[in-house]
Amino acid sequence: MNNRVHQGHFARKRFGQNFLSDPYVIDSIVSAIHPLPGQAMLEIGPGLAALTEPVAERLEHMTVIELDRDLAARLAVNPKLKDKLTIYQQDAMTFDFAALAKEIGQPLRVFGNLPYNISTPLMFHLFSYTNAISDMHFMLQKEVVNRLVAGENSKTFGRLSVMAQYYCRIIPVLEVPPTAFRPAPKVDSAVVRLIPHDSIPYPVEDIRILSRLTTEAFNQRRKTIRNSLGHLFTPEQLTELGLDLNMRAENISVELYCKMANWLSTKGTKLPEAKQE
Ligand code: SAM
Repeated sequence: MNNRVHQGHFARKRFGQNFLSDPYVIDSIVSAIHPLPGQAMLEIGPGLAALTEPVAERLEHMTVIELDRDLAARLAVNPKLKDKLTIYQQDAMTFDFAALAKEIGQPLRVFGNLPYNISTPLMFHLFSYTNAISDMHFMLQKEVVNRLVAGENSKTFGRLSVMAQYYCRIIPVLEVPPTAFRPAPKVDSAVVRLIPHDSIPYPVEDIRILSRLTTEAFNQRRKTIRNSLGHLFTPEQLTELGLDLNMRAENISVELYCKMANWLSTKGTKLPEAKQE
């Protein structure tokens, strides 16, 4: 049998389709999400409903966003789901999560086994809606989860760690081997929980500056900051901000990055255009 065909659907690579098929893993994920009646559950990429069905079982209603037209059409006629689902057949990257939370009248609980090809830009998109979200549970490449949770002074600490931790508390939940999926991905996976902070611990005046500053720093992560950020700060300014000139991008804490970003905002420093996420 063609191993790209699962439940009669040919898995589309361009949509990052790797369907969960291990009942034990599915059960563990649903328990970790812990959906309760009345909550505004929103799934990104329900696919063939491996997570949707057990989650919806516990609810009166839920919302899903599925880009693949064939899969959205299948969900619409799924006997266990059709009366419970609101289906948006669209790209989650362009979805207005704040508008939906407003319509439902409560913050969203977002979850999904995300298409790995767009998981990082999708998380950045979601970070801009953290006021409308109470928590998120995502299946991601394990390597991405490692980067999300990394603290400073670690090899995996990077721009994604800083930006994600600016907005959220991040808790790894479960590791998942390739054998839990059809077709099996080439990499290990993991589920992570992201809980937006009630109040941002180190607020910045302009998030775009934090975003660009971290891009500048981590694009040259092997250089000392005296060199990599020399076009933005003099050595004296870096010292004044509490940095050691021999530090590299990975040695600077989220708190310090925020302090540096606010200093740049105050000075009105122009940063190079950020590359698209
Ligand atoms: N939830 C299912 C499961 O666990 O078996 C499917 C997971 S599969 C990794 C990713 C799903 O996201 C697919 O159903 C795919 O069609 C959908 N998808 C891909 N890109 C999307 C996008 N930009 N917006 C919404 N859904 C997307």
